[in-house]
Amino acid sequence: MKVLVATEKPFAKKAVDGIREIIETAGCELALLEKYTDKAQLLEAVADAEALIIRSDKVTSEVIAAAKNLKIVVRAGAGYDNVDLAAATERGIVVMNTPGQNSNAVAELALSFMIYMSRNRFTPGTGREIQGKTLGIHAYGNVGKLVGRKGKALGMNVIAFDPFITDPAVFEADGVKAVSSIEELYAQSDFLSLHIPATPETKKSIGRKLLTSMPKGAVLVNTARKEVIDEAGLAEALQEREDLKYITDIAAETQAELNEKFGNRVFATPKKMGAETAEANINAGLAAARQVVGYLKEGITRFQVNK
Ligand code: NAD
Repeated sequence: MKVLVATEKPFAKKAVDGIREIIETAGCELALLEKYTDKAQLLEAVADAEALIIRSDKVTSEVIAAAKNLKIVVRAGAGYDNVDLAAATERGIVVMNTPGQNSNAVAELALSFMIYMSRNRFTPGTGREIQGKTLGIHAYGNVGKLVGRKGKALGMNVIAFDPFITDPAVFEADGVKAVSSIEELYAQSDFLSLHIPATPETKKSIGRKLLTSMPKGAVLVNTARKEVIDEAGLAEALQEREDLKYITDIAAETQAELNEKFGNRVFATPKKMGAETAEANINAGLAAARQVVGYLKEGITRFQVNK
């Protein structure tokens, strides 16, 4: 059985070696298509593949149509909007992602964001420490949990809000206090770390009202999605409260205006970098290979996203 790893932007060598070992130990054959520049190369390589592992590569309906033997596509990473799910589902092809494999990378970035803003983006002057401050975690999923635990280790008072987690033991196990409303979360948080997905319910849900309720000197940290921010409301809050700060891994549509208007109080990474670590890259690649083998050999569909 042929497993194709098709990566315009290749995995690290260590990840490829690990993927090869997992695939070949399972008695499958590994084919590599790296740094391809033309869609035609992908269409040709995928023609006889049973499984496909990708990163941000686009698996369009054309690619699916060209892949006559394809049974499974695994996106090594969290987001899978680069795969045409409807086309895959129509052909009975299983699509999976590898959730949790880059969470630590994102969590470390969120913590570093807090320190960076507390020290005035490393410009001269008196900053603040994060120890003893209240850290609010908005959504206690894979990334949120890691930010919470790391915040505790740094001496922060950690609170969280996640309406979909009904078992209090999930929070208690980490020494984190669950609060019962989003309003309570924001009103208490010196640092608010956002980890909600972008859904119809969450889009543009973080705006002026919540932000102006935050304590003096508060910092909003966004490593989730830009869509969850009401950008006009954010600008109003920053205007109204000269002590508030915003840092994001996903630049706002209006980032240039925010930068110009609010200077050192706002910052966006030039390119999304939350998951860009060697470790996350390797973890996601190996997980993808294990999931391919698990499905081809035992029919395991955990992490299938097109059920
Ligand atoms: P996850 O699926 O593990 O957790 C999401 C959590 O959100 C769940 O616990 C869920 O209960 C909660 N949730 C859903 N709707 C909610 C709502 N309306 N209010 C409060 N909580 C709600 O996801 P994750 O792996 O922790 O990722 C979180 C976010 O980070 C995602 O949006 C993802 O796209 C983003 N992300 C960013 C990067 C990056 O590079 N910056 C990398 C990976 C993930």
